[in-house]
Amino acid sequence: MTDFPALIVSRDDATKAYAVTRSRLSEADLMPGDVTVAVEWSTVNYKDGLALTGKGPVVRRFPMVPGIDFAGRVTASGHPDFTVGDEVILNGWGVGEVHFGAYAGLARVKGDWLIKRPAELSARRAMAIGTAGYTAMLAILALERHAITPARGPVLVTGAAGGVGSIAVAVLARLGYTVLASTGRPQEADYLRQLGAGDIVERSELSAPGKPLGRERWAGAVDSVGSTTLANVLAQTSYGGAVAACGLAGGADLPATVMPFILRGVSLLGIDSVNAPISIREEAYRRLVRDLDFDQLDRLTTEVEFADLVDVGHDILAGKVRGRVVVKIG
Ligand code: NDP
Repeated sequence: MTDFPALIVSRDDATKAYAVTRSRLSEADLMPGDVTVAVEWSTVNYKDGLALTGKGPVVRRFPMVPGIDFAGRVTASGHPDFTVGDEVILNGWGVGEVHFGAYAGLARVKGDWLIKRPAELSARRAMAIGTAGYTAMLAILALERHAITPARGPVLVTGAAGGVGSIAVAVLARLGYTVLASTGRPQEADYLRQLGAGDIVERSELSAPGKPLGRERWAGAVDSVGSTTLANVLAQTSYGGAVAACGLAGGADLPATVMPFILRGVSLLGIDSVNAPISIREEAYRRLVRDLDFDQLDRLTTEVEFADLVDVGHDILAGKVRGRVVVKIG
């Protein structure tokens, strides 16, 4: 490949004006790394929305190729674990933030950041999962480690119609949990029930400041919203329960009290996908292959055009994107 299409984010040093342009790069423009990958599919996560619009300090080096996830085929490798032709997945590691990312025909990265794509998963479905879906699985694994079994009671998912939320709902329901799906979009109630939600919780029930302790409503939760919502989720978690916190769609603060921790033994479990070790990633993908219904995955996935990425970035930040989005790159 001599040159290839790429999306470039730049920022003017003096005016701080943020610009996203479609351009072409050559292999020599790529950043150092020991594996080169022909990118086949990518996706748009919430963090990509921040990078595509400049509404959050995700891109920390300019110019940058955004895109935090890709699936593709190895075209060159100096890494002992990868050879030409291997099908690989990359999620996170600062790619699309400080290292050229997924929205380009070629990517050159560290082999230590890659995992082999499971044979059961097409490149498109790997990106339908993406960081959002793999994070949902990390959150579910954390709840399981905390012995939150279906018998313990319902599990709440906040931001349920979003990417992390949709995959969490689908996987939890398939595992036999009673899933309570919290959404601010009542029009998505049928969609969430089709994914397996047993009941819908109005976003407004959780988004206004509440009491330090409330009625015990769920044994566990996957929270992608943060802020007051997370405080209320903790306050309504039953005795000995656990909340996996992975997002900040509603805010990065946490206006909570310690009451759920010290009076109900509730645990707050932190979830990070970006720097998670390879062994945990591989476990998450093994479980996704086993526990995610691929027909459900296809139903919650929308395909967008490369040319529309910036618009989709604005939409995801506005909470308008349902489920997951994929984009064909190569
Ligand atoms: P999406 O935009 O797809 O989903 C977020 C959902 O949150 C929306 O669909 C909406 O759901 C809800 N929401 C949006 N705005 C608000 C608001 N102001 N108040 C309450 N709810 C709101 O994003 P993703 O699923 O890709 O990511 C979700 C969050 O998780 C993001 O904050 C992201 O940064 C974080 N994340 C963290 C990771 C980690 O490693 N810890 C990895 C991946 C994501 P609804 O319409 O149903 O209410």
